[in-house]
Amino acid sequence: MSGRGQEGTSLLDLEVDMSELEGRTFTCDDKCGLCCLCQAEVLPHEVPFFKRDHPSRVVMKSEPHRHVALALKGGEGPCTFLGVNRRCEIYSSRPHYCRQFPFHLYISTRVQVELDLSCRGVWYGGREDALVTGGKMVAENREALLRALRESRAVYREFEANCADSGIYRAPEGLRRNVAPRIKELSDVQYLAKVLDLSAEEEEMEALPAPLSSPQYDPKELKASAAETGLESLSSDDVYSAPVYCDPEGKWNILLSKNGKVEWSVMNDDGSLDPRRTIDPKQVPLLVPEGQGLDVFCSYMSTLNRRDSMYGYACFLVDDYGYEDYLSNTYYGALAAAAMDLLWRSSLIAHIRGGKLDRQGMIEGIIAYDMDRLDAPAIGAFL
Ligand code: SF4
Ligand code: SF4
Repeated sequence: MSGRGQEGTSLLDLEVDMSELEGRTFTCDDKCGLCCLCQAEVLPHEVPFFKRDHPSRVVMKSEPHRHVALALKGGEGPCTFLGVNRRCEIYSSRPHYCRQFPFHLYISTRVQVELDLSCRGVWYGGREDALVTGGKMVAENREALLRALRESRAVYREFEANCADSGIYRAPEGLRRNVAPRIKELSDVQYLAKVLDLSAEEEEMEALPAPLSSPQYDPKELKASAAETGLESLSSDDVYSAPVYCDPEGKWNILLSKNGKVEWSVMNDDGSLDPRRTIDPKQVPLLVPEGQGLDVFCSYMSTLNRRDSMYGYACFLVDDYGYEDYLSNTYYGALAAAAMDLLWRSSLIAHIRGGKLDRQGMIEGIIAYDMDRLDAPAIGAFL
């Protein structure tokens, strides 16, 4: 593997980008268990082991495709194999899905290795070099990645042809280049509101606007619209599918928006729920990143700007709306909405924990947010 971590690095004949892993290390935090709340899929070659040794602890699922998955405690809680002190009872035989976490292999017109920044082990780990682990993962999955890449490239070719027919296409490299000098501005809700307004207009945005010389929006209205975006991203059909934030103490905080408020509860290891309190979004001050918190915010927004899954999300929206909106407007608007959502979610966590958006507060906000970001629909797919 040569030139590891650089954009477009080639792993044999596979085009792979591992730039998100550069300078990152990882160690699983024993008291966390957050990834054991996601129902792990069991791959076909793993099914015989589970059917033979643990037949009552796997279930059939029909969504998003027919597959076998690990059962959950009480049908909705953590994984059935999550034992005492959050130890995995079948650690050496755990499925492929669990072995990969927090790495995600995203396939679009190339393979990109993304890191789930909701994993505390990425922020506070230290033992594993993420680039080494990510490289091994790519090598182990090479055949499957090549197959998925062929399919995904065909989907992107069709997408680009549809965009070209409608005159709305812009290459991702150009969009990313336009965002890069404005990353810091994305921490300013006035600026975000401006971008969101421009992105909804009929005219194409050639680039992100210059920084605002004076405030243009009513702060009260901005706070209300940030809360609206934040509440929408916390909405879910039921409490067990709602966003989870694993805090420094290892508590699984469930934050569900209901009737314009946030219902906060904590899930126990057996899957039962302890209600905490209902939070009125009007009581949540919309904070701005400060000191090193701003560096953390900018670094995260730069990561989003580089992620193929973020660009794939904008492509999904363009496709979903029938190729009527410019890809540039959609991409800039999606990034601005993500920044707004992150600021509000981080403010909510700081409100609950009694902090501010300094370095620590901003990291906790990203931990509470990134898993939902990675779960957003996109053209392309995670392997
Ligand atoms: S989310 Fe990360 S730190 Fe937490 S259990 Fe999973 S791998 Fe470990
Ligand atoms: S098999 Fe083990 S690692 Fe995987 S979700 Fe279950 S408890 Fe967690």
